[in-house]
Amino acid sequence: MLVPKKGLGVQVPSRTRFYRYAPTVAPDNHTPLDRALSLIADVPNYPKSGILFKDITPLLADGPGFALVIDEFARFIRGLNRDIDAIVGIESRGFILGGAIAKALEIGFVTVRKPGKLPRDVYRKEYALEYGFDALEIHKDLLEPTDNVVIVDDVLATGGTALACHDLVSLTGAKIVAHLFMLEIEFLQGRKILRDTHSDVAIISLLKA
Ligand code: AMP
Repeated sequence: MLVPKKGLGVQVPSRTRFYRYAPTVAPDNHTPLDRALSLIADVPNYPKSGILFKDITPLLADGPGFALVIDEFARFIRGLNRDIDAIVGIESRGFILGGAIAKALEIGFVTVRKPGKLPRDVYRKEYALEYGFDALEIHKDLLEPTDNVVIVDDVLATGGTALACHDLVSLTGAKIVAHLFMLEIEFLQGRKILRDTHSDVAIISLLKA
C-alpha cells in the first residue's frame, strides 16, 4: 500500500518479512544487502526430491531489498569499466532482475527464451539437462558484433544454462563481458564449467550457498 506523505507525494513503505521463511543467510547478517539476500527462501525437495530450491520471490516482494540488490548489480557492472550495451536475461527470473538492472543503467534489455516463445527469426542453442535436452533462443537482430553484454540469471547451479546462454549470445557476435547471478550453489561447480570454457569472462554472484 502506498502511504501519502505531505509535500513528498507518496512514500513506499518498507515491507520487512525477515525469517518467515527458512533464510539462506545466517540471522546475524551484517549489512542491508545481507538482510535482503537473507530473504531468499530455501525450499527442500522442490521441484523434486533431493533438490533444495532457492526461492527469490520473498526478496522480490520486499521493495527496499529488491532495490538494494539491483543497485548492487548495477554497481558491479559499472565497476567493470566497460561500455556495456545491453543486459541479457534468461527466462524467466533473469527477466525480472535483468529488466530492472537495464533500467538502472539506462541500457537495453534482451530476452533469452525457452523454445517457441519468440516470434521472429532466432538463433537456437540446445543443451543437456540431467535427463534429456532443453534449448534457448534469442532474436537474431537484437545484438551486433560490436555490442558488449552482461548475462543475468537468478541462480548458478551446474552452469549448464549459463553456458548455453553464453554460446547462444556468441552466435550474434556480441561479446559477453560478465555473468551475474544473485546466488551461486557452490558445490555444483557452475563457476568452474563457465571459467574452464570462457576464461576471460567475469563471474559475479552476490551470495554463495
Ligand atoms: P544450472 O543450469 O544447473 O546452472 O541451473 C540454473 C537454472 O536453473 C537457473 O535458471 C535457475 O533459475 C534454475 N535453478 C537451478 N537450480 C536451482 C535451485 N536449486 N533453486 C532455484 N533455481 C534453480
